[in-house]
Amino acid sequence: MATTGFTLSPTSTLFLTVFLAVLTLTVCLQVPLYNSQDQRSLGWTTYHETSSVQPEWTETGPSGGRRYQICRFANGGRQNNWLRTTWIDAKQANRVAVEIDFSMRECVDIPGAVSCKETFDLYYYETDSDNADQNWPPWSSPPYNKVDRIAADGRFTHDTEVINTKTRHFGPITRNGFYLAFQDQGSCLAILKLKVYYLACQEITMNFAYFPKTPAGPKSTALVQVTGDCIDFSQPIGPENPVYQCQSDGTWTLIDGSCACSPGYEATSDRACQACFAGEYKVNIGNSACKACPAQSYSLSQASAQCLCTEGYYRANKDPVSDPCTAPPSEPTGVRATVSESSVVTLFWNRPHNTGGRIDIFYRIECELCHGDQCQPCSYTVQYSPTQYGLTSSSVNISRLDSYTEYRFKVYAENGVSRLSGIESYATVNATTSSAVPSTVRAVRVTAETENTIELQWLVPEFPNGEILEYEIRYHPQAASVEGSKYQVSKPSNTGTQNAIVSQLEPGTDYSFEIRARTEAGFGVYSYPTTAKTSGGTSVPIEAIAGSIAAVVIILILAILIIFIIMSRRRKGYELRDTSTVYTNGEVLLPPSNKGKTYIDPHTYEDLNLAVKEFAKEISATYVKIEEVIGGGEFGDVCRGMLKMPRREPKIVAVKTLKPGASLKDRNDFLTEASIMGQFDDPNVIRLEGVITKSRPVLIVIEYMENGSLDRFLRNNDGKFTVIQLVGMLRGIACGMRYLSEMNYVHRDLAARNILINHRLVCKVADFGLSRIKEEGAYETKGGKIPIRWTAPEAIAYKKFTSASDVWSYGIVMWEVMSYGERPYWNWSNRDVIKSVEKGYRLPPPMDCPQALHQLMLDTWQKDRINRPTFLNIVNTLDRLIRNPSTLKNIIKARPYNPLDPSTPDMTQFRSVAEWLESIKMGRYINAFAEAGYLKLDDVVRLMLHDLPRIGITLVGHQKKIMNSIQALRTQMGKDNVIPVLV
Ligand code: AMP
Repeated sequence: MATTGFTLSPTSTLFLTVFLAVLTLTVCLQVPLYNSQDQRSLGWTTYHETSSVQPEWTETGPSGGRRYQICRFANGGRQNNWLRTTWIDAKQANRVAVEIDFSMRECVDIPGAVSCKETFDLYYYETDSDNADQNWPPWSSPPYNKVDRIAADGRFTHDTEVINTKTRHFGPITRNGFYLAFQDQGSCLAILKLKVYYLACQEITMNFAYFPKTPAGPKSTALVQVTGDCIDFSQPIGPENPVYQCQSDGTWTLIDGSCACSPGYEATSDRACQACFAGEYKVNIGNSACKACPAQSYSLSQASAQCLCTEGYYRANKDPVSDPCTAPPSEPTGVRATVSESSVVTLFWNRPHNTGGRIDIFYRIECELCHGDQCQPCSYTVQYSPTQYGLTSSSVNISRLDSYTEYRFKVYAENGVSRLSGIESYATVNATTSSAVPSTVRAVRVTAETENTIELQWLVPEFPNGEILEYEIRYHPQAASVEGSKYQVSKPSNTGTQNAIVSQLEPGTDYSFEIRARTEAGFGVYSYPTTAKTSGGTSVPIEAIAGSIAAVVIILILAILIIFIIMSRRRKGYELRDTSTVYTNGEVLLPPSNKGKTYIDPHTYEDLNLAVKEFAKEISATYVKIEEVIGGGEFGDVCRGMLKMPRREPKIVAVKTLKPGASLKDRNDFLTEASIMGQFDDPNVIRLEGVITKSRPVLIVIEYMENGSLDRFLRNNDGKFTVIQLVGMLRGIACGMRYLSEMNYVHRDLAARNILINHRLVCKVADFGLSRIKEEGAYETKGGKIPIRWTAPEAIAYKKFTSASDVWSYGIVMWEVMSYGERPYWNWSNRDVIKSVEKGYRLPPPMDCPQALHQLMLDTWQKDRINRPTFLNIVNTLDRLIRNPSTLKNIIKARPYNPLDPSTPDMTQFRSVAEWLESIKMGRYINAFAEAGYLKLDDVVRLMLHDLPRIGITLVGHQKKIMNSIQALRTQMGKDNVIPVLV
């Protein structure tokens, strides 16, 4: 049989090391306390109980070989002869060893020695000092402690001496020292040598730990436990220092633990650790050797536990220090975007050229909504598939984007050290969404089910992107596949909430429903499937049916009773309303043109609280947390808050407060707005969440619009939007107004200040109620304040407020939007405005306003209200313009100076560049012009578009404004020939 080789496992290697260590520890240490051979004379004390002619204890021999001997035996006589050493210092001994060399004469060799003995007794007596004398302690046991009776193994006859060596131990030692005593009881004995010592484990360094010299324990079974100290540059392996035991025989045994060289140090033997050299490192506690620093790292000093990364390189938390340092990746390459019909942007990219030496490359997407150079983060509702962060694929789908909007996407390439480096490597791509199809319908739910029908309800898409022509409902039994689906078409109703009943369904069957909207541009995406089960389908016993019928009859009777009571309680209110179908403006309420709801004036209720109760949901004050004041309303602060309703996602809301100490009239006026708003349900009309009237302060909770009022928002963002974006805002307002007009609600104060705009630039009509007109300089009449600049002539003249007068106001809002919040009719007085409009003057197109939009404004300002478009017409016109953006390209250029029209200022009047810049509201660039050396208007007229960025004018809107004004300057200063072309 062949022999097999073997290798040692780590454990067996360790065992071997320890075993070897224990072997070398067996050399024990004898610490001498007394040696008779070291003495020139011994001078021990003797005692003989009886006198005899025979020799007593006698000291003889040469120096260094002194001995005591005795040979005293008497026929029949009793012998008791003691010999006591000098006092022996016990030092650190716990237990003492006595080694005696002696010789003993054989009794048979002594003729006539009847009571001869061949043994002697060894005793000790402990004292703290050398205080014994001839008489004390008494020569007996006790007080002497007997160690042993010692017999001679080899006895000699008269001619040859045989030496016996015996060792005896005793302990524990409790005093500073002791005497040894020998008792002879009639032998012929010589104590030749006496060696006294104690055993100790010797000082030792093993396994990188130092153990001091340690006396053995007091008993033969005693073990002394000692904790070692790790040597320099080493430390314990594990939580504790190593522990050894000193055994009674003076040898060490390992109990537990070991030390090893510290990080930055390597072992030279098992007793010493030395520092790693510069350029090397050692990371762990252990006895392995130092290693050279990995790539892209260094160590400048000795004893480095790890190497530092060279500049531009990093080590991620989880990277082992033995790995090279790495760098963040370069930016992704080949980033490109495609935009689908339904405004889904797909981004693609390739791996970065440089991965920084790592394999853990991942990508992150950032989406920004840009207006020229100004970008802001996209809404949190934007969806990324598969995900926005930590992408490992090299493409992503981004949905829920707004239509007709320019986005900028940043694709970041990252790896495990990107965050450490703080370096961002990204590539940017722009994409403009141009969805023509509607977005998904919202909030699909089942409102009723019978054996064969299911009634569905949903909200119109947030972005219809045109007029919705129909909804398509796709449904199939849940158990069947989608291929076998049936389809049903539902015509849109005029409210935000849409309904449809799907019929001819199987009883007791689970169905899946999906709904999508269609505009002229086509179908949108189906909604997420909603499931519902038709009732019935299982046979029911006849008794159960009879019982159910009886129950239904009872419920019906009860319901009729309740309805009767409610009707009779409300009749009063309705009677009042019926007799007052005349508005304050004198207009008769027409029967609703749609089959949906009609607005009910809360003032037709006898008690406003009833209207509030009917139209506004009461919310518990505990669900609303007010966070920050964001504006001042007529009745109190407007705040941002958090609404946390049970079982609903928390949402940010705006909270209108009624200031403390408000009168009852104020309270009613305040709540009127809620009872009006609560009747509306449209994506472009501000939504009421509810009211808090049962506690103080009284609050109205409405949806939160991040960008606040439109007029201020536009003024703060002058020139930053594309025409399409501005038209998108106008479309939203028109849709909201179309809804309100269909509800037969006349707003009367439609103005940019009463439009709120959210973070996605969706505009919503706000500010309802009657005593709310807050236009500065509003014209006070008997019928209340009138915001002259926004109001149609017939409404100013004889309070004819109608949806057609709202259309006029809408035209003014269009003008406000296109001029970024300019005040209509500038600083003219109300009287001048009325007179001019009466004479036929109409606001001119704002700068850069597409011809088509100004035409629409002029249409809304038709003197005869019958000739004005309806809101439905306006929405359709805007949709047409959006679908054909080329129609918006025809921009009206700067018009010649017209003293009646402040938008065509008299350029010759400016005395300085500063004055000119102020006049076009570009005063912020006064210093920039001066610093760039444009100190006189003569210099300014030479400016070209490409000069502007150098001056610091980078916003496209501002560049256009300035260049248009320069063109007017040139014309009026007769310097048209100075610069040939303008953009
Ligand atoms: P109002 O009393 O409605 O005119 O509101 C006063 C101001 O509060 C407005 O000009 C806005 O700046 C702000 N505000 C009102 N309602 C909201 C809202 N729903 N979201 C955000 N800000 C609002």
